Amino acid sequence: MSELIPIPLPLQLTRAFLEYEREGKIFDLPKAKFYCGVAGVDTSVTFHGQCAANPVGPAAGPHDQLVQNIVLSWLAGSRIIELKTVQIMDELKIPRPCIDATNVGYNVEWSQELKLEQSLREYVAAMMFIEILKASCLLGDEFTGPFTDTIYDMSVGYSLEGIRSPRVRHWIESMKDARAIIDELRATLTGPWARYRDLAFPTRVSDTITLSTFHGCPAHEIEGIVTFLLTEMDVHVCVKLNPTLLGFEQVRYLLHDVLGYGDIQVAADAFEHDLQFSDALTMLPRLAGVARSRGKRLAVKFSNTLVVKNHRRMFSDEVMYMSGPPLHVVTLNLVKKFREHMGGAFPISFSAGLDQHNVCNAVAMNFVPVTTCTDLLRPGGYARLPKYLENLGARMRELGAPRIHDFVVRYAGQGEAAINSVVAALAQRFPEAASAVNEIVTSRLKTWLATQGAALNEACAGIQREFTPARIPQLPHSLADALQDELAGLEGALVEAAGVLNTPVIVDRTTADPRYRWEKNKAAPRKIGSKLWLYDCISCDKCVPVCPNDANFVYQNEAAEIAYSNYELLPTGEARPIAGGVFKVARAHQLANYADACNDCGNCDVFCPEDGGPQIEKPRFFCSAESYEKYAGRNGFFLEFGVAGATIHGTIAGKSYKLTCGPDQANARFDNGSAEIQVRTTDHAVVTWSLKPGVAAPHTVDMLPYFQLKFLMDAVSNPGRAHYANVAALTGEQLAQEGAVQG
Ligand code: SF4
Ligand code: SF4
Repeated sequence: MSELIPIPLPLQLTRAFLEYEREGKIFDLPKAKFYCGVAGVDTSVTFHGQCAANPVGPAAGPHDQLVQNIVLSWLAGSRIIELKTVQIMDELKIPRPCIDATNVGYNVEWSQELKLEQSLREYVAAMMFIEILKASCLLGDEFTGPFTDTIYDMSVGYSLEGIRSPRVRHWIESMKDARAIIDELRATLTGPWARYRDLAFPTRVSDTITLSTFHGCPAHEIEGIVTFLLTEMDVHVCVKLNPTLLGFEQVRYLLHDVLGYGDIQVAADAFEHDLQFSDALTMLPRLAGVARSRGKRLAVKFSNTLVVKNHRRMFSDEVMYMSGPPLHVVTLNLVKKFREHMGGAFPISFSAGLDQHNVCNAVAMNFVPVTTCTDLLRPGGYARLPKYLENLGARMRELGAPRIHDFVVRYAGQGEAAINSVVAALAQRFPEAASAVNEIVTSRLKTWLATQGAALNEACAGIQREFTPARIPQLPHSLADALQDELAGLEGALVEAAGVLNTPVIVDRTTADPRYRWEKNKAAPRKIGSKLWLYDCISCDKCVPVCPNDANFVYQNEAAEIAYSNYELLPTGEARPIAGGVFKVARAHQLANYADACNDCGNCDVFCPEDGGPQIEKPRFFCSAESYEKYAGRNGFFLEFGVAGATIHGTIAGKSYKLTCGPDQANARFDNGSAEIQVRTTDHAVVTWSLKPGVAAPHTVDMLPYFQLKFLMDAVSNPGRAHYANVAALTGEQLAQEGAVQG
């Protein structure tokens, strides 16, 4: 078990730019999987009054904690990034493994695993990375302008006391005004990165917060936190609500009777302790009033995960948190119930079992943002995201919807009903102008609806122009002005009405859809019965993209089969060859793990066809001698680069070794803890040797660890591939020579 150690921004940049130049990838995401937009439609949305190029992004969780998470999410198309939840208790010991995405999706992980200060640096550094990427033009011209509009949404938890604490307050203030951290990070931009030091990085990284509360958090506590955030922290707020609001009986009925997840046991007491639906209905309008009085926006998020009893063997806790396909149905039914009471009064952010197949449904219910997590843990990882947006774009084109607003109204056959309801509300509000409203607004909007490709915003602007005293002389000026104001919100009102009307249609259809049932989701990833070890496996590479942190990586070497001798170091000074063995590595394509980016979540183990877990059995590399010494355990390696050559420290089966190769590679110095031997690398013969104090000759040296270390050192330090284990050796000169840093 190791802890997450953030990687400095210049090293992240060096790795990414070199990797892109050499292999056409960034953090192992191939450029063919970068999201480059969808032709012919505009997917932009507003969230809390700010513009994002599309509504899709990662939910606060394993995909937005570290720089590489956030950059990968962004490259794959995310434009509203809900950063992993931070909280005052930042020294949590989270049980490992903590993610079980075998089929349904369960976890026992919750907030950030870094210290508050580290999280702040990671989030700001990720924003700076993306700004540098844009400025560099590395990815081409399309990665500029409105296509890159991104919202970083803070997520904080979990109690009023914690959120009001000086450290969390300071954290929020630092995200709202990140000048100090940006300046600190600017100073680290040296060598080839110095050219970006003076880039105009946005200093207001975020002024929106999605609030996460504990399961069982009482209503008055939630109200207190939201009020505090809206008033004292001066941020827009989205309150994340729990699926327990739907009620025990209804959740149990959906999970068991409708969807067939008979083994999932919902915890009845969780429903009693969580916020009650009736309390939410009275609390939210009160909070909306507070938000309005402060010029802030309030939204709700559906939903948190569902607490269930732990009926599987992966975790040790008594309860776990369910996500994935069944949560999708439960949460949509909760949204339906909520909207039956609240209509479209609250903007809704959505997260629950989102994937490429249901993203259109979610967008059509006027949810912003629509965020995903469990799906990105499955094979392909972040590369699954572009398909969400491609499917959305394709459906928009099919419907003749140039923008998201057009799409919401046209999607579920509720356009006419939405027009009628908006016009009826307008006519009721302006009875003196009812006939003109009925006639002009209805006919213009229905003409728009009948005309594929026509833009709703233009139709609404045209309607607004109609209601001027010049066009309708019988309208008194004061009434015309009031109508003008109201009509300025016509497009929004229509979209809101359509989103609400679409909800029961889509929810009922989804609830009846067999793809969410247990029968369709019970398959577990295939295991082939073989056991992983340090080298060789079936090289399927599944473990690379399923890791949210890009901690697993491929390295390449020539396959090896070397018959070797061991050595007996004699009192005479001779090194006598004795029977040895065969060092054999069958494949050139090998896998390793960068332990400082691995939190032992267990996800790669679930999807690896072999047994043992890549994060446990494959060579685990550390970024520093300190973390290597602390966490190597039975399997760990650390590469050090210096003018005198490279050194690899290695612990294999719990025993530590060290191998140093000079720049000419002719000789290597191998230290097995008892002896240090000088080896001629051409034939691996011992040239000289010495014993450590307290060790007496004769002493036998097992040469297998020497070959294991040599193989890893040669392959992993090879600059032909850029990854975290060798990035410290990839110099700025290499970048400059390869022309990777421009702009
Ligand atoms: S390497 Fe595996 S266990 Fe480690 S963080 Fe990645 S997915 Fe989780
Ligand atoms: S470690 Fe497992 S998942 Fe990774 S490449 Fe090997 S067999 Fe595939």
